[in-house]
Amino acid sequence: MQPRIRGLHHDHVDGSLAVAKTLPELYELSGLPIPSAIASVADDTEELAKFFRNPHENLVKKFSLITGALQTEEAIRYAVREYARTRRREGYRYVEAYFAPQYHTKRGLAVRDAANAFYNAMRSADSDLGIKVFPHLCIGREADVETGIAIAKIALEYDGEMALNLVCDEAAHPPEKHLPAYKLTFGSKVKRDCHAGEWVAKEPAATYRARLAANIRTALFDLRCDGIGHAIPLADHPELVSYVVDHGVRISGCPLSNLACGAVKTIEELRIGELLDRGVCYTLNPDDDFFLPPMEEVVEKCDAVFRFTESQARQLEENVFGGAFAP
Ligand SMILES: [Zn+2]
Repeated sequence: MQPRIRGLHHDHVDGSLAVAKTLPELYELSGLPIPSAIASVADDTEELAKFFRNPHENLVKKFSLITGALQTEEAIRYAVREYARTRRREGYRYVEAYFAPQYHTKRGLAVRDAANAFYNAMRSADSDLGIKVFPHLCIGREADVETGIAIAKIALEYDGEMALNLVCDEAAHPPEKHLPAYKLTFGSKVKRDCHAGEWVAKEPAATYRARLAANIRTALFDLRCDGIGHAIPLADHPELVSYVVDHGVRISGCPLSNLACGAVKTIEELRIGELLDRGVCYTLNPDDDFFLPPMEEVVEKCDAVFRFTESQARQLEENVFGGAFAP
């Protein structure tokens, strides 16, 4: 049975279709020319989407073409508004929206100003669009340790109104790199999330899943995360499953993202039905619905594979609110 999902726990603003659709306006608001790589297709959402969905284009470069347009407070405000409006129109009541302020400083915005601009825009969406947008302040993990610490300090100032998250290249920058930043938030109201168990080197293949699992362990036991993004091999490790259930750690899964990026060969590997039956607070998410399949497809394909029972479908619906980070 297909669940009716009314909220998201894992949604990158700069990878969302809503924001990508407004690229020409955003570049104008940032006072920058549209980069030559997309200049000829920027006005045509279909053509633009084709460029961004091309697996041969570098993912980091794709993100930079979008974050490149979000370099002033005005552009950030505009983008967040479009994002929230679109998600509301799609029927969502609650979304956790991810952004990494370090990518928005090319035209002189300070990391703190970028974070404030995102936060304020999300708060105003709450009050007049009828959707609760809860921000995740993300450390792009290639940042040096000091930048990670600076970002965690900003999250602390918001006293639980923003979560801390770790995004991007997990293979080159495993979770322990930013332990000093995460440690600062221990004992505070800041919720900690982390992309872990998503992305490690494919070779040696024999240890691929074990290395993914090692990063999940680091995120749980060292970074003391309240939530984990992806956690691909979780079901292989009953002791980790027990830990996340007992400690109320939520898992924001993005099955079609994992499939499209080649992190899994089939979505069966994620064993979502088993995780739900074990009581894991698991949710379905698109990750980046501009580059990757939209949420309706995520729900449809997962249901086709896992044939969710009525109880599993209910859990997927209720976990959105039960596992929400918003205070
Ligand atoms: Zn993600």
